[in-house]
Amino acid sequence: MSQQYYTLAEGCPFASSSTAVLLRNKTGGGLGLLQDTQLIETLAHFSRERIPERVVHAKAVGAYGEFEAVADCSDITSASFLNTAGKKTPLLLRVSTVGPEAGSADTSRDVHGWAMKLYTDEGNLDWVFNNTPVFFIRDPIKFPSMNRSHKRNPQTHLPDVNMFWDFHVGNPEGIHQLLHLFSDRGTPHSIRNINSYSGHTYKFTKEDSSFKYVKIHIKTQQGVKNLTREEATRIAGENPDYYIQDMFEAIERKDYPIWNVYVQIMDPSEAETYRWNIFDMTKVWPHKDFPLRQIGKLTLNRNPQNYFTDIEQAAFSPSTMVPGFAASADPVLQARLFAYPDAARYRLGVNYQQLPTNAAKVPIYCPFERDGKMRFDDNYGGDPNYVNSSLKPTKFYPEVKNVNPNSISLHTEHEKWAGEVSAYTSHITDDDFVQPAELWKVFGRQPGQQDRLVDNLASSIKGVKSSKLRGDVYALFGRVNRDLGAMVQKATEDAIKQSA
Ligand code: NDP
Repeated sequence: MSQQYYTLAEGCPFASSSTAVLLRNKTGGGLGLLQDTQLIETLAHFSRERIPERVVHAKAVGAYGEFEAVADCSDITSASFLNTAGKKTPLLLRVSTVGPEAGSADTSRDVHGWAMKLYTDEGNLDWVFNNTPVFFIRDPIKFPSMNRSHKRNPQTHLPDVNMFWDFHVGNPEGIHQLLHLFSDRGTPHSIRNINSYSGHTYKFTKEDSSFKYVKIHIKTQQGVKNLTREEATRIAGENPDYYIQDMFEAIERKDYPIWNVYVQIMDPSEAETYRWNIFDMTKVWPHKDFPLRQIGKLTLNRNPQNYFTDIEQAAFSPSTMVPGFAASADPVLQARLFAYPDAARYRLGVNYQQLPTNAAKVPIYCPFERDGKMRFDDNYGGDPNYVNSSLKPTKFYPEVKNVNPNSISLHTEHEKWAGEVSAYTSHITDDDFVQPAELWKVFGRQPGQQDRLVDNLASSIKGVKSSKLRGDVYALFGRVNRDLGAMVQKATEDAIKQSA
C-alpha cells in the first residue's frame, strides 16, 4: 500500500486534508462555500455514519472461526457440512446482550444471544440461539411486548423494573427463563465461558424425506464460569466493553475458545406422545429422555478486521437454512423466520446478503431477486428476470450435480397438515412450573447457588413500587417452589426496610 494516497470518495486526489475553502476578510472569520466539496462531503458522510441500531441484540462481541464435524452424521441429516468426520466449515459468531443498547455494559444481567453463520458448501446456515435453553414466551404475538418490557419506560426513558415484573406476572410462562436469567449464568464471566442452545426444536432432514426433531446444544470447553452480581456491577462501571476486550485479546494471543456441539434427537412419532409439547419454547427435553450426541466442535480463531463491516453489518436469521436442516412448527420460530430478514432489510437494505460478511462462499444465482438499493454486484447482467425463460433456462442443483432432488429439500414433503385457522393463545397450567421446579433443584446441587438466585431476584424486585405487584411476583415464584417464594419475599421486603 506504499502507493496509497489521500483522495475524496470518488478518487480525486487532494494535496491536503486540512484545508477549507472560505471567503475570508480581515477579521479572521470566513464564509463557507458550496464549492468546498472536501468539507461538505466529509461533514455529510460523518452525519450518516450510523445505521439503525438493532432493536434487540445491539451490543455484541464478534469473531470468525470454524466448525468441524466430529463424525459422519448422514444417518440423521443430509446436511453437507455434517457428512464427513473432520470436515471444516468457516463461521462467524456474534454474541450479544438482548435488551440494552449498543453503548451499554457487557456485564448487564441479560440473556445472551448467540448468532452464528456457517458458510457451508451448500450455502449459509444461521443458528440464532441463546445462552439459555428456554425462552420467556411461546406465543409469537408477545415477542415485541416481551422485549419492550425489558427495555426503557416510554415516559422516563429509564429502565423500569415495575414494567419488567408487571410483564412477567401477566405472562407467567416465562418463569423457567426468569430462573436462568437471575441465576449465576445471568452474568457470565466472559463469552468464552457460556453455553448456547437452539431453544427451538428444529428438524434434521434426509434425502428420503424422513426427518428427526432436534435441539442443539453448544457447550464451552473453557467451562461455564460466571461473575457474581457485585462483580458484574463493578465491571459494568469500570469496563463496559469487558466481553469484547476479553474475546479480542484471547484471539490475539491465540488462546482460541472452543465449544462442543451436540444434538438431542427425537423421532416424530415420539413427539406425538411425549410428555412435553416440543413446539413450546419454554420447555426443555430432559437429558435423561434425550441424551446428547456430539456432531461437531467449533473454534474462534480470527478477530474482525473492521468491527462495522464484519460484525455490525452482519445479519442473521433462522430462515437462513441449508439442505438437511429445517424449521419446525414452533410458532415463535415461524414468526422469527419472517421477522429477522425483515429487520435486516430495514437496517441494512434489501441487498444486505451481498455484504461481504453475509455473502455465501458458494456461487449465488438468484436471478429473480434484482435491482434494489445498493446493488453492488453485476445484478446478473442481461439474464432474464422472470421464470421459465426459454432464452436462458435456469438450471437446478440436482441436474447440475446429478443428485436426488430430495437431497436438497428444505421441507419434508410427506408431512401432512390438517387443521383450522384459529385465534390461538396458550394458557398457563401447573405443568408450566414443573421444569422450573427441576431447575431450582439443579441450583441446589451447588452450595450457595439458590441463595444467590434469591439475592439477585430481591435486588431487582425491591425496586417495584406497588406492594400488590410485589406480592404477585412472590406468588409466581411460590408456584415453582414454596420455599423459593418465601425466600424471595423475605429477602426483598428486608431489603426495602433496610433502605427506608
Ligand atoms: P439434568 O440434571 O440432566 O441437567 C441439568 C442441566 O442443567 C445441566 O446439564 C446443565 O446444563 C444445567 N445446569 C447446571 N447448572 C446450572 C445452572 N447453575 N444454571 C443453569 N443451568 C444449569 O436435568 P434435566 O435435563 O432434566 O433438566 C433439569 C433442568 O435443567 C431443566 O428444567 C432446565 O431448566 C435445566 N437445563 C436443562 C437442559 C436440557 O436441555 N435438558 C439444558 C440446560 C439446563 P448444561 O450441561 O447444558 O450446562
